[in-house]
Amino acid sequence: EKEQLLKLAELPSVTQDGVTLTLAANISSLKELEAALGNGAQGVGLFRTEFLYMDRMYFPSEEEQFEVYRSAVQKLKGETLVIRTLDIGGDKQLDYYEMPEEENPFLGFRAIRFCLERKDLFKIQLRAILRASNFGDVRIMYPLITSVEELRAANEVLAEAKRELQEESVPFRADIKPGIMVEVPAAVAIADILAEEASFFSIGTNDLIQFTLAVDRMNEQISHMYEPFHPAILRMIRTVAHAAKAQGIPVNICGEIAGDVNALPIWLALGIDELSLSAQAILPVKERLLRSKASDSRKLLDDLFRCRTSMEARELARQFYAGAALAP
Ligand code: PEP
Ligand code: MG
Repeated sequence: EKEQLLKLAELPSVTQDGVTLTLAANISSLKELEAALGNGAQGVGLFRTEFLYMDRMYFPSEEEQFEVYRSAVQKLKGETLVIRTLDIGGDKQLDYYEMPEEENPFLGFRAIRFCLERKDLFKIQLRAILRASNFGDVRIMYPLITSVEELRAANEVLAEAKRELQEESVPFRADIKPGIMVEVPAAVAIADILAEEASFFSIGTNDLIQFTLAVDRMNEQISHMYEPFHPAILRMIRTVAHAAKAQGIPVNICGEIAGDVNALPIWLALGIDELSLSAQAILPVKERLLRSKASDSRKLLDDLFRCRTSMEARELARQFYAGAALAP
Protein backbone atom coordinates (compact mmCIF):
# COMPACT_ATOMS: atom_id res chain seq x y z
CA GLU A 1 0.00 0.00 0.00
CA LYS A 2 2.92 2.28 0.72
CA GLU A 3 4.17 1.68 -2.80
CA GLN A 4 0.75 2.50 -4.20
CA LEU A 5 0.84 5.80 -2.36
CA LEU A 6 4.34 6.60 -3.55
CA LYS A 7 3.12 6.41 -7.13
CA LEU A 8 0.95 9.43 -6.34
CA ALA A 9 3.98 11.55 -5.47
CA GLU A 10 4.53 12.53 -9.09
CA LEU A 11 0.92 13.44 -9.88
CA PRO A 12 -0.35 17.04 -9.75
CA SER A 13 -2.43 17.67 -6.61
CA VAL A 14 -5.76 18.59 -8.09
CA THR A 15 -9.34 17.50 -7.44
CA GLN A 16 -11.57 15.67 -9.91
CA ASP A 17 -13.16 18.97 -10.83
CA GLY A 18 -9.88 20.74 -11.41
CA VAL A 19 -9.27 22.61 -8.15
CA THR A 20 -5.62 22.79 -7.18
CA LEU A 21 -4.55 22.53 -3.54
CA THR A 22 -0.81 22.78 -3.05
CA LEU A 23 0.58 20.15 -0.68
CA ALA A 24 3.77 21.55 0.84
CA ALA A 25 5.88 20.26 3.71
CA ASN A 26 6.57 21.19 7.30
CA ILE A 27 10.26 20.66 7.97
CA SER A 28 12.74 21.47 10.69
CA SER A 29 15.93 20.24 9.03
CA LEU A 30 17.48 19.45 5.65
CA LYS A 31 17.07 15.78 6.44
CA GLU A 32 13.33 16.21 6.82
CA LEU A 33 13.30 18.07 3.52
CA GLU A 34 14.67 14.98 1.75
CA ALA A 35 11.91 12.84 3.22
CA ALA A 36 9.27 15.37 2.22
CA LEU A 37 10.55 15.61 -1.35
CA GLY A 38 10.52 11.84 -1.57
CA ASN A 39 6.80 12.01 -0.83
CA GLY A 40 6.18 14.60 -3.53
CA ALA A 41 6.06 17.75 -1.41
CA GLN A 42 5.45 20.85 -3.52
CA GLY A 43 7.73 23.21 -1.71
CA VAL A 44 8.02 23.92 2.00
CA GLY A 45 5.20 25.80 3.69
CA LEU A 46 6.82 25.89 7.11
CA PHE A 47 10.51 25.65 7.90
CA ARG A 48 10.68 25.64 11.71
CA THR A 49 14.06 27.30 12.10
CA GLU A 50 14.25 27.05 15.88
CA PHE A 51 15.87 23.64 15.53
CA LEU A 52 18.90 25.35 14.01
CA TYR A 53 19.25 27.14 17.32
CA MET A 54 18.73 24.15 19.61
CA ASP A 55 21.04 21.40 20.89
CA ARG A 56 24.20 23.47 20.57
CA MET A 57 26.39 25.86 22.55
CA TYR A 58 25.75 29.28 21.01
CA PHE A 59 23.56 31.10 18.51
CA PRO A 60 24.08 30.02 14.89
CA SER A 61 25.98 32.62 12.87
CA GLU A 62 24.60 34.36 9.81
CA GLU A 63 26.91 32.30 7.63
CA GLU A 64 25.80 29.04 9.20
CA GLN A 65 22.13 29.87 8.76
CA PHE A 66 22.66 31.11 5.23
CA GLU A 67 24.25 27.78 4.25
CA VAL A 68 21.25 25.84 5.54
CA TYR A 69 18.65 28.11 3.94
CA ARG A 70 20.50 28.15 0.64
CA SER A 71 20.85 24.38 0.62
CA ALA A 72 17.16 24.03 1.30
CA VAL A 73 16.06 26.37 -1.45
CA GLN A 74 18.45 24.80 -3.93
CA LYS A 75 17.07 21.36 -3.20
CA LEU A 76 13.61 22.76 -3.95
CA LYS A 77 14.52 23.58 -7.55
CA GLY A 78 12.29 26.61 -7.99
CA GLU A 79 9.54 25.61 -5.57
CA THR A 80 8.71 27.86 -2.65
CA LEU A 81 10.52 27.78 0.69
CA VAL A 82 8.67 29.52 3.51
CA ILE A 83 11.11 30.21 6.31
CA ARG A 84 9.52 30.95 9.64
CA THR A 85 11.63 33.21 11.79
CA LEU A 86 12.73 31.96 15.19
CA ASP A 87 9.92 30.64 17.39
CA ILE A 88 11.84 29.96 20.56
CA GLY A 89 10.33 29.98 24.05
CA GLY A 90 7.12 28.19 24.94
CA ASP A 91 8.16 24.55 25.02
CA LYS A 92 11.45 25.21 23.18
CA GLN A 93 14.42 26.34 25.23
CA LEU A 94 18.05 27.14 24.39
CA ASP A 95 20.85 25.61 26.49
CA TYR A 96 23.04 28.69 26.06
CA TYR A 97 20.53 31.45 26.68
CA GLU A 98 18.87 32.07 29.98
CA MET A 99 15.19 32.65 29.39
CA PRO A 100 13.14 34.14 32.21
CA GLU A 101 11.27 31.73 34.47
CA GLU A 102 7.66 31.99 33.38
CA GLU A 103 4.36 30.88 34.84
CA ASN A 104 2.83 30.53 31.37
CA PRO A 105 5.61 30.12 28.82
CA PHE A 106 3.25 29.65 25.87
CA LEU A 107 1.79 33.06 26.68
CA GLY A 108 5.19 34.46 27.45
CA PHE A 109 8.44 35.67 26.01
CA ARG A 110 8.60 33.71 22.77
CA ALA A 111 8.65 33.82 18.98
CA ILE A 112 8.29 37.30 17.49
CA ARG A 113 8.24 38.79 20.99
CA PHE A 114 11.70 37.45 21.66
CA CYS A 115 12.92 38.60 18.24
CA LEU A 116 11.64 42.14 18.69
CA GLU A 117 13.38 42.31 22.06
CA ARG A 118 16.61 40.88 20.61
CA LYS A 119 16.66 42.68 17.29
CA ASP A 120 20.38 42.00 16.96
CA LEU A 121 19.74 38.26 16.77
CA PHE A 122 16.63 38.74 14.66
CA LYS A 123 18.53 40.79 12.11
CA ILE A 124 21.19 38.10 11.76
CA GLN A 125 18.51 35.60 10.84
CA LEU A 126 16.79 37.99 8.44
CA ARG A 127 20.10 38.76 6.71
CA ALA A 128 20.73 35.03 6.27
CA ILE A 129 17.25 34.50 4.83
CA LEU A 130 17.57 37.50 2.49
CA ARG A 131 20.90 36.22 1.20
CA ALA A 132 19.34 32.81 0.51
CA SER A 133 16.52 34.51 -1.40
CA ASN A 134 19.00 35.10 -4.18
CA PHE A 135 18.97 31.36 -4.89
CA GLY A 136 15.29 30.63 -5.29
CA ASP A 137 11.76 31.38 -4.16
CA VAL A 138 12.24 32.21 -0.49
CA ARG A 139 9.48 33.71 1.64
CA ILE A 140 9.61 35.00 5.19
CA MET A 141 6.97 34.23 7.79
CA TYR A 142 6.64 35.70 11.28
CA PRO A 143 5.22 33.54 14.09
CA LEU A 144 2.77 34.51 16.83
CA ILE A 145 1.73 37.85 15.36
CA THR A 146 -0.83 39.50 17.63
CA SER A 147 -1.06 43.02 16.25
CA VAL A 148 -0.29 45.23 13.28
CA GLU A 149 2.32 47.01 15.39
CA GLU A 150 4.26 43.79 15.75
CA LEU A 151 4.16 43.10 12.04
CA ARG A 152 5.38 46.60 11.30
CA ALA A 153 8.13 46.42 13.90
CA ALA A 154 9.37 43.15 12.42
CA ASN A 155 9.26 44.67 8.94
CA GLU A 156 11.37 47.57 10.16
CA VAL A 157 14.12 45.20 11.21
CA LEU A 158 13.78 43.53 7.82
CA ALA A 159 14.10 46.88 6.06
CA GLU A 160 17.25 47.57 8.05
CA ALA A 161 18.70 44.19 7.10
CA LYS A 162 17.95 44.96 3.45
CA ARG A 163 19.62 48.36 3.71
CA GLU A 164 22.74 46.82 5.20
CA LEU A 165 23.01 44.16 2.53
CA GLN A 166 22.50 46.76 -0.16
CA GLU A 167 25.32 48.87 1.24
CA GLU A 168 27.55 45.81 1.35
CA SER A 169 26.56 44.99 -2.24
CA VAL A 170 25.32 41.56 -1.18
CA PRO A 171 22.61 40.29 -3.55
CA PHE A 172 19.10 39.41 -2.37
CA ARG A 173 15.55 39.65 -3.68
CA ALA A 174 14.44 43.17 -2.85
CA ASP A 175 10.72 42.52 -3.28
CA ILE A 176 10.48 40.01 -0.41
CA LYS A 177 7.34 40.78 1.58
CA PRO A 178 6.64 38.67 4.66
CA GLY A 179 3.58 36.67 5.53
CA ILE A 180 2.39 35.82 9.01
CA MET A 181 1.27 32.87 11.05
CA VAL A 182 -2.30 33.34 12.17
CA GLU A 183 -2.25 31.41 15.41
CA VAL A 184 -3.48 33.83 18.07
CA PRO A 185 -7.20 34.64 18.38
CA ALA A 186 -6.44 38.38 18.24
CA ALA A 187 -4.93 37.92 14.80
CA VAL A 188 -8.10 36.17 13.66
CA ALA A 189 -10.22 39.02 14.93
CA ILE A 190 -8.17 41.57 12.97
CA ALA A 191 -7.48 39.32 9.99
CA ASP A 192 -9.08 41.89 7.67
CA ILE A 193 -6.57 44.51 8.84
CA LEU A 194 -3.57 42.19 8.84
CA ALA A 195 -4.43 41.03 5.32
CA GLU A 196 -3.67 44.54 4.11
CA GLU A 197 -0.11 44.42 5.44
CA ALA A 198 0.91 40.77 5.14
CA SER A 199 1.62 39.03 1.84
CA PHE A 200 0.09 35.72 2.94
CA PHE A 201 -1.53 33.98 5.90
CA SER A 202 -0.62 30.60 7.28
CA ILE A 203 -3.05 29.36 9.91
CA GLY A 204 -1.19 27.66 12.75
CA THR A 205 -3.95 25.57 14.20
CA ASN A 206 -1.70 23.96 16.83
CA ASP A 207 -1.41 27.21 18.73
CA LEU A 208 -4.73 28.62 17.58
CA ILE A 209 -6.60 25.69 19.13
CA GLN A 210 -4.56 25.98 22.32
CA PHE A 211 -5.26 29.70 22.71
CA THR A 212 -8.87 29.70 21.54
CA LEU A 213 -10.00 26.78 23.65
CA ALA A 214 -7.64 27.67 26.53
CA VAL A 215 -6.19 24.16 26.37
CA ASP A 216 -2.46 23.79 26.93
CA ARG A 217 -1.29 21.75 23.95
CA MET A 218 1.25 19.91 26.14
CA ASN A 219 -1.11 18.99 28.97
CA GLU A 220 -2.25 15.37 28.74
CA GLN A 221 -4.80 15.82 31.46
CA ILE A 222 -6.96 17.95 29.18
CA SER A 223 -5.91 16.62 25.79
CA HIS A 224 -9.47 15.39 25.17
CA MET A 225 -10.49 19.05 25.08
CA TYR A 226 -8.02 19.81 22.33
CA GLU A 227 -10.58 19.72 19.54
CA PRO A 228 -9.87 20.92 16.00
CA PHE A 229 -13.52 20.46 15.01
CA HIS A 230 -14.79 22.74 17.76
CA PRO A 231 -17.26 25.16 16.10
CA ALA A 232 -15.16 28.06 17.40
CA ILE A 233 -12.10 26.80 15.51
CA LEU A 234 -14.01 26.15 12.31
CA ARG A 235 -15.46 29.66 12.45
CA MET A 236 -12.07 31.19 13.03
CA ILE A 237 -10.59 29.39 10.06
CA ARG A 238 -13.50 30.59 7.95
CA THR A 239 -12.97 34.18 9.12
CA VAL A 240 -9.29 34.06 8.20
CA ALA A 241 -9.98 32.48 4.82
CA HIS A 242 -12.57 35.12 3.98
CA ALA A 243 -10.28 37.97 5.03
CA ALA A 244 -7.49 36.59 2.85
CA LYS A 245 -9.80 36.14 -0.14
CA ALA A 246 -11.21 39.64 0.25
CA GLN A 247 -7.71 41.05 0.10
CA GLY A 248 -6.48 38.63 -2.55
CA ILE A 249 -3.64 37.08 -0.56
CA PRO A 250 -2.96 33.32 -0.28
CA VAL A 251 -4.12 31.46 2.81
CA ASN A 252 -2.48 28.24 3.98
CA ILE A 253 -2.98 25.81 6.84
CA CYS A 254 0.17 24.52 8.54
CA GLY A 255 -1.06 23.05 11.84
CA GLU A 256 -1.39 19.31 12.39
CA ILE A 257 -5.07 19.33 11.47
CA ALA A 258 -4.04 19.89 7.84
CA GLY A 259 -3.01 16.22 7.87
CA ASP A 260 -6.47 14.98 8.87
CA VAL A 261 -8.02 13.65 5.65
CA ASN A 262 -11.50 14.23 7.02
CA ALA A 263 -10.85 17.97 7.16
CA LEU A 264 -10.02 18.14 3.46
CA PRO A 265 -13.52 19.17 2.25
CA ILE A 266 -13.37 22.13 4.62
CA TRP A 267 -10.21 23.42 2.96
CA LEU A 268 -11.64 22.86 -0.50
CA ALA A 269 -14.88 24.62 0.32
CA LEU A 270 -13.14 27.59 1.90
CA GLY A 271 -10.71 27.99 -0.98
CA ILE A 272 -7.58 27.33 1.09
CA ASP A 273 -4.60 27.62 -1.25
CA GLU A 274 -2.07 25.34 0.37
CA LEU A 275 -1.67 22.76 3.11
CA SER A 276 1.68 22.37 4.78
CA LEU A 277 2.08 18.87 6.12
CA SER A 278 4.52 16.61 7.86
CA ALA A 279 6.21 14.32 5.32
CA GLN A 280 4.17 11.25 6.20
CA ALA A 281 0.83 13.06 5.86
CA ILE A 282 1.38 14.31 2.30
CA LEU A 283 0.45 11.19 0.35
CA PRO A 284 -2.61 10.13 2.35
CA VAL A 285 -4.03 13.64 1.93
CA LYS A 286 -3.14 13.62 -1.73
CA GLU A 287 -4.82 10.29 -2.26
CA ARG A 288 -8.01 11.76 -0.84
CA LEU A 289 -7.65 14.97 -2.81
CA LEU A 290 -7.31 13.18 -6.13
CA ARG A 291 -10.65 11.45 -5.50
CA SER A 292 -12.47 14.57 -4.26
CA LYS A 293 -14.67 17.14 -5.89
CA ALA A 294 -14.46 20.68 -4.58
CA SER A 295 -18.04 21.30 -5.71
CA ASP A 296 -19.29 18.50 -3.42
CA SER A 297 -17.40 19.86 -0.47
CA ARG A 298 -19.27 23.16 -0.67
CA LYS A 299 -22.47 21.35 0.17
CA LEU A 300 -20.87 20.04 3.33
CA LEU A 301 -19.82 23.47 4.49
CA ASP A 302 -23.33 24.79 5.19
CA ASP A 303 -24.18 21.75 7.27
CA LEU A 304 -20.84 21.89 9.04
CA PHE A 305 -21.35 25.46 10.17
CA ARG A 306 -24.77 24.56 11.50
CA CYS A 307 -23.29 21.97 13.85
CA ARG A 308 -23.51 22.98 17.45
CA THR A 309 -21.00 20.56 18.88
CA SER A 310 -17.50 19.40 17.98
CA MET A 311 -18.68 15.83 17.87
CA GLU A 312 -21.41 16.58 15.33
CA ALA A 313 -18.98 18.51 13.14
CA ARG A 314 -16.29 15.86 13.31
CA GLU A 315 -18.76 13.10 12.58
CA LEU A 316 -20.30 15.00 9.68
CA ALA A 317 -16.90 15.52 8.09
CA ARG A 318 -15.99 11.89 8.59
CA GLN A 319 -19.21 10.61 7.05
CA PHE A 320 -18.90 12.95 4.12
CA TYR A 321 -16.07 10.95 2.73
CA ALA A 322 -17.37 7.63 3.87
CA GLY A 323 -20.44 8.47 1.76
CA ALA A 324 -20.99 9.11 -1.90
CA ALA A 325 -18.76 12.12 -2.33
CA LEU A 326 -15.72 10.13 -3.39
CA ALA A 327 -15.32 9.33 -7.01
CA PRO A 328 -14.64 5.63 -7.67
C1 PEP B 1 1.09 25.92 14.83
O1 PEP B 1 1.11 26.57 15.88
O2 PEP B 1 0.04 25.44 14.33
C2 PEP B 1 2.32 25.66 14.08
C3 PEP B 1 2.28 25.13 12.88
O3 PEP B 1 3.51 25.99 14.64
P1 PEP B 1 4.18 25.23 15.86
O4 PEP B 1 3.53 23.87 15.96
O5 PEP B 1 5.63 25.17 15.52
O6 PEP B 1 3.90 26.11 17.02
MG1 MG C 1 2.71 27.81 16.52
